[in-house]
Amino acid sequence: MAFQLPPLPYDYSALEPTIDTQTMKLHHDMHHGTYVKNLNAALEKYSNLQSKAAEELLRDLNSIPEDIRTAVRNNGGGHVNHSMFWKIMKPKGGGDPNGPIADVIKKTFGNLKDFQTKFSDAGAKQFGSGWVWLAGKPDGSVQILTTPNQDNPISQGLFPILGNDVWEHAYYLKYNNRRPEYLAAWWNVVNWEEINNRYESLKSGHLEPALASR
Ligand code: MN
Repeated sequence: MAFQLPPLPYDYSALEPTIDTQTMKLHHDMHHGTYVKNLNAALEKYSNLQSKAAEELLRDLNSIPEDIRTAVRNNGGGHVNHSMFWKIMKPKGGGDPNGPIADVIKKTFGNLKDFQTKFSDAGAKQFGSGWVWLAGKPDGSVQILTTPNQDNPISQGLFPILGNDVWEHAYYLKYNNRRPEYLAAWWNVVNWEEINNRYESLKSGHLEPALASR
């Protein structure tokens, strides 16, 4: 059973004008599609690894055979990161979160606006390609961090609650080199209900619903 590219949960044009149709099409079909294809190719001769969740592969990269470790790190990361990314966005998203995620943001960062500013600043400062995250521990504490390339916080023992893609392929067609503008606009399409579900999964220890689909 090979890993599959999950369908986009809305139309390519659904996140206009924040994210343009062509970017969504290329990003989902080509970029995410290629990570899935390359992950499956890397695992071809390791049938014992094919039944594992992609998150499980990333959790202990040192246990992955050396000849495919980098491929699994990059393409497994690409698959997990993007599977989350499509779901934590929605048309007519944005606004203010409710539930436990709202509480922990307030407790940790003071208020939503200060959290969003810190998150966007961290994303703007990530040199080159990578991701900016809000990640958490099973005790419910959260932190902002950035990772290069397709590295996922799972490899550092943290669970990704939300993340924004700051690779140029995520924004360059519309925003050109203006990454901070993309980061600021992105809050208009975030799906706080899904993000809250992910945070509740972390706190309850039932992470399965938050894992990448196969
Ligand atoms: Mn991407």
